[in-house]
Amino acid sequence: MVKAVHVHKDAFHEDASSQPGSFFVDEPDAGGVQILWYRCPCGCGAAGVLRVGNGFKPATDKPSWSWNGSTDAPTLVPSVHHVGHWHGFLTDGEWRSC
Ligand SMILES: [Zn+2]
Repeated sequence: MVKAVHVHKDAFHEDASSQPGSFFVDEPDAGGVQILWYRCPCGCGAAGVLRVGNGFKPATDKPSWSWNGSTDAPTLVPSVHHVGHWHGFLTDGEWRSC
């Protein structure tokens, strides 16, 4: 299990060695879609981006996730697959591999 620690956007971008599972969420666009940035839970240091909606799954032809709106105990549905690195769920602030 890897803790999902909410960090400031600048800290996330400036420190590529920031801890696995750290994340922040950009401001919503006109359609309410937000980009959640996360550091791959596997520990490789790679950043990933997910298209999320606060309380809804954005209707788009691209992959998207429903986010519970929490930065303290975030939950995403469905599962997150950082291809070749990690596959699991972000639930109640914990990245749990499956
Ligand atoms: Zn990785």
